[in-house]
Amino acid sequence: MTQLVDLRSDTVTKPTAAMRAAMANAEVGDDVYSEDPTVVALEQRVAAMFGHEAALFAPSGSMANQIALQLVVPPAQELLCDANAHVVTYEFAAAAAIGGISSRTWPFAGGEIDVDLVASMIRPDGYWAVPTRAIAVEQTHNLGGGFVIGLDTLRGLRAAADSAGIALHCDGARIWHAHVATGVPFAEYGALFDTMSVCLSKGLGAPVGSLVVGSAEKIARARWIRKRMGGGMRQAGILAAAGLYALDHHVERLADDHRRAQRLAQALAPYGVVDPERVHTNLVVLDLAKTAVDAPALGAAARERGVLMSVLGPRTGRLITHLDADDAAVDHAIEVLTGILSA
Ligand SMILES: *Cc1c(COP(=O)(O)O)cnc(C)c1O
Repeated sequence: MTQLVDLRSDTVTKPTAAMRAAMANAEVGDDVYSEDPTVVALEQRVAAMFGHEAALFAPSGSMANQIALQLVVPPAQELLCDANAHVVTYEFAAAAAIGGISSRTWPFAGGEIDVDLVASMIRPDGYWAVPTRAIAVEQTHNLGGGFVIGLDTLRGLRAAADSAGIALHCDGARIWHAHVATGVPFAEYGALFDTMSVCLSKGLGAPVGSLVVGSAEKIARARWIRKRMGGGMRQAGILAAAGLYALDHHVERLADDHRRAQRLAQALAPYGVVDPERVHTNLVVLDLAKTAVDAPALGAAARERGVLMSVLGPRTGRLITHLDADDAAVDHAIEVLTGILSA
């Protein structure tokens, strides 16, 4: 195989020819004036999918998260999330720098969230201690290996948030994967959250784009926050068209990615590096604690044989299946990785 099999991330996908055609043919206008019909159509469609009143197109998932956090947590108040959440791992203190938001984390157990623990961390309103204003969860969980949080857990968090009068935000960059893996309707997820961010450029294969989802009142404020952050875009319908195309054609096919991730996990399980039961969606986190090769060595050896993986730590690797990795690509990755692990 001469072509690289790139399993570092599901962000590496390139727009398909049909997606590019949809982009080329998009009707556009100036979206800062709310005059881009394709952006408006995408926003209305995504809002309706999740049973919310409105949505706002944003250039990245990080910006969508940060807009949402500013909607639910005022400056000098607090967000609760887990210690490996994207918002505190990959967003470079944006909540603090831009929103003046204090973040406090619960330990990341790599599995189901302890609702009682989170509820016990909520601090009440007051001038002597930072009040908690929102809880954020990630569905599916990136550093949790694509873990799907169960509905009962989410309902428990919703109840805890309600009884404290605070908000629940979902970083739903891969909420599509949770839906495909569990069959839980998008609207059922949507009903649990005050705000959501969803991403079109991960598994869905669009080149750019995320959305913030929420009430009409919140999204009106979100538009203002986005402009303040420099995220107002003009003829963005070119990008929104890719998102609409992805929603039509690339959601249900995520089942193929899940099947391929499971196949990778099954093939690698005999080497003691992954428990297939923990692979819920399209991410396969490799625990290389007990192998002869560490993560950088495995990554380098695989790269030499045309397979790219992420090295997340000295003994942690990650493989992600996606639109541009077919069965043959996954077969090749299995052959290369098992060859190195059994050497
Ligand atoms: C990728 C991702 C985001 C957004 O990332 P951007 O690169 O800013 O688009 C947010 N949350 C999670 C869980 C992600 O995996």
